[in-house]
Amino acid sequence: MEKKIIIAIDGHSSCGKSTMAKQLAKQIGYVYVDTGAMYRAVTLYAMRNGMFPDEGIREGELEKAVKNGDIQISFKFNPNTGRPDTYLNNEKVEDEIRQMAVSNRVSRIAALPFVRALLTEQQQAMGKEKGIVMDGRDIGTAVFPQAELKIFVTASAKVRAQRRYDELMNKAKSEEEKAKLNFEEILKNVEERDYLDSHRESSPLRQAEDAVVLDNSEMTIEEQNVWLMGKFQEKLNK
Ligand code: C5P
Repeated sequence: MEKKIIIAIDGHSSCGKSTMAKQLAKQIGYVYVDTGAMYRAVTLYAMRNGMFPDEGIREGELEKAVKNGDIQISFKFNPNTGRPDTYLNNEKVEDEIRQMAVSNRVSRIAALPFVRALLTEQQQAMGKEKGIVMDGRDIGTAVFPQAELKIFVTASAKVRAQRRYDELMNKAKSEEEKAKLNFEEILKNVEERDYLDSHRESSPLRQAEDAVVLDNSEMTIEEQNVWLMGKFQEKLNK
């Protein structure tokens, strides 16, 4: 039988993890899972249900919803975009979860241990058969510490903010939406998430000891892909 492995791609916000993970998965016929989308979907659920009064979070209410199974997250492959779309309770929320309103709140939701416990369990179930490329913050350290290939991706905050700005610009549907985008705000969000993700108590973002580091500040997507394929082949031939 063909050998299949688990590939864990962790790193800072907006450093192109999902682009590289998606492309690699397609090339090698693996399943791709964007775990950030799952944290974003829980955040959207909390926002829609009034769980962000002032600057706080109604943790008790959210925990109840988690325990009741009121938050169902799933992915469906979209042949038009070639990537999976995220669904929250059977509603497609792929675009909504990428908005700044969600980005600005997600790291606080991701710091809650009961949210992490729920999503970690679901992610582990998705990787049971191996043959998976999963990207996030704690995949190589907490979700799959036994993953055969671990990559830790980073790039300077400015480069990452510029990439996120370009991505949102491309997606904007009107001039009004474009005018609302502000580079400084995006840079601040990237830096804030770096800080919160690295300093939380529950599975903070950190490089696994056996991870290979990829700083892609100066790399094109193509160069990055070649690098990644090389690492994959190395592991497969071991
Ligand atoms: O990858 P993305 O930027 O969409 O992730 C959104 C947020 O979700 C991150 O800033 C982080 O707070 C949280 N996250 C996490 N653990 C993961 C994936 C994402 O805490 N495995």
